Amino acid sequence: MTGHPQTVTVRRGDDAAAELDCDLCVVGSGAAGLSAALEAQALGERVILADAAPQLGGQAISAALGTLCGLYSNGPDPQRLVHGVMDGMLRALVEAGEAAPRRARNTVILDYSVNAWQRWAEREVAARGITPLLGAVLRAVVRDGSGRRVEALDFATRFGDRRVRARAVVDASGDAVVPWLADQELRTANQPILGTVMALFEGVDTAACADWPRATYHEAMKRRGAEFGLVRFDGFIFPVGDGKVNLNLTHVETPLDPVGLSLAAIEGRRQVDALLALFRDEFPKAYGRARVAHYGQAGIRQTRMILGTRRLTVEAVRSGALPDDRVLRCSWPIELHTTMDTTHWEMFADDHLHHLPFGAMTPAGLDNLVVAGRCVDAEPAALASVRVMGPCFAMGRAAAEALHQTGAGSVHQLDLGALQKRLADNLERTTRDPWLGGVTGESGPEAYGAG
Ligand SMILES: Cc1cc2nc3c(=O)[nH]c(=O)nc-3n(C[C@H](O)[C@H](O)[C@H](O)COP(=O)(O)OP(=O)(O)OC[C@H]3O[C@@H](n4cnc5c(N)ncnc54)[C@H](O)[C@@H]3O)c2cc1C
Repeated sequence: MTGHPQTVTVRRGDDAAAELDCDLCVVGSGAAGLSAALEAQALGERVILADAAPQLGGQAISAALGTLCGLYSNGPDPQRLVHGVMDGMLRALVEAGEAAPRRARNTVILDYSVNAWQRWAEREVAARGITPLLGAVLRAVVRDGSGRRVEALDFATRFGDRRVRARAVVDASGDAVVPWLADQELRTANQPILGTVMALFEGVDTAACADWPRATYHEAMKRRGAEFGLVRFDGFIFPVGDGKVNLNLTHVETPLDPVGLSLAAIEGRRQVDALLALFRDEFPKAYGRARVAHYGQAGIRQTRMILGTRRLTVEAVRSGALPDDRVLRCSWPIELHTTMDTTHWEMFADDHLHHLPFGAMTPAGLDNLVVAGRCVDAEPAALASVRVMGPCFAMGRAAAEALHQTGAGSVHQLDLGALQKRLADNLERTTRDPWLGGVTGESGPEAYGAG
């Protein structure tokens, strides 16, 4: 072998961004963005799905959440409230044994395998001809002369810049990055909303701790946490089979600052190590041989939100108000992470439902943009009841339907009645999933559940 021929190359002076073209560009591929992209493709749109991360899935994958909340109503006979293309993923994962229901927080949540979610998303995106643009950080937004329409989005990638031209845009970045770069006014909380570094332990004798209520852990964390360097003394722990348990037991600040967020991830992993040391010492039979199988990235609950034409208020959540422009329902509690040591929960009754107004997804100053997911307009405690992944799926569907219906017009002049007809599944229909037949375990406010 004499080696392969090579070409000598040198960077050219013209660094103009290569262009890509689509009908709809979705920024962010988490629960909201993935749903929006798949729904839009199903409606016949040519879709580009862009994400700063090198893989699809958003926090469902990168933060290793492992639990899908907000899909079902409350009470002893939970009904599914969220429908759409993501139904296919629920069915596929449950049938493959990669997702399983669990009673929690007076409803049902689904434990899921992070790898199975990611692979399902990748297969669907490839099979449906959606263009993935990964490792692509949105850094500029180009608007038309009126300033009200986004014309193009500029992304930085390791292989050079890409300009994406699109008729319409869904911002599912969690941070409202599109309106931010389009100089719109945004909201941030005056008090930080804390994030969490999730972890998966393996090598746990789960038989030895299968019946422990969360109080067993919380009592030990309160009694000895300071000694081991913990800052949070409550949270959630789910046995997920094969000697593994999923933990949501840390708290970190997640600032909109790259150095701060990098340090938060390191601090969160320190807290995970401290938990392992405490559990090994306190519960040697169950945790004596446990190890950390996986640390998540720093999971972000809330950063920037849009100023929509409507805002979801805590009062509307509590009262179950019915806004005339509602696009989804939800029963998840208010789950507020504002103090380091604990989490505030406000549970709702069996028949409770609250609704998200479409106006909370539309920044007033832009005509061809809808936001979905963590950056909709809501009071912080109200967002804490709709930011789990079930409602994020429904927001993605609402965004795709709305922008499809809008065409070249304005989302602010949409026929809302027609939109709600298209979203009737997520406003009226309820489904009793076959896989809930055998669901057992704890119920009521004391059962575990995380978001
Ligand atoms: C620790 C933690 C635990 C949670 N537990 C649960 C749970 O158990 N069950 C549940 O249902 N929900 C849970 N939640 C809530 C839920 O995970 C999130 O609110 C939900 O994932 C939000 O989805 P999203 O699609 O809005 O955004 P994300 O999943 O955050 O996705 C946003 C995507 O946008 C991309 N992005 C951001 N900025 C840019 C940019 N400039 N350019 C390109 N791409 C960009 C990001 O890389 C990311 O992939 C939890 C949240 C946290 C933080």
